[in-house]
Amino acid sequence: MPDPYWPKKNDYPLSRLNEGGIRLVRVTCRYCKRSHNYRPDDLIQIFGDMDTDDLARRMKCEQGHTGLMSVESFSPTGKEAVGLRIRRLVAIKIQRIPIWRED
Ligand SMILES: [Zn+2]
Repeated sequence: MPDPYWPKKNDYPLSRLNEGGIRLVRVTCRYCKRSHNYRPDDLIQIFGDMDTDDLARRMKCEQGHTGLMSVESFSPTGKEAVGLRIRRLVAIKIQRIPIWRED
């Protein structure tokens, strides 16, 4: 369900979604239709306080589809809130990648 007051680009950093009640971010892959719900504060930890629209370009489908993500914010209410699964951030794993040089 798209937000009818979805603001124009660059008007809405993720941090503003928590103003005035709980909002979640639903990210759906347009190709395989998988969708996950995230809390804005979890997304901020990964991507920084970026514009909500720009997330569509940063998020990646776990099936490897890129550039096909649709992002919308919503407030779960009543029926929708029951049994709603929210994907929470457990940890951010930092990969150590060795870079070599011949001397
Ligand atoms: Zn996909």
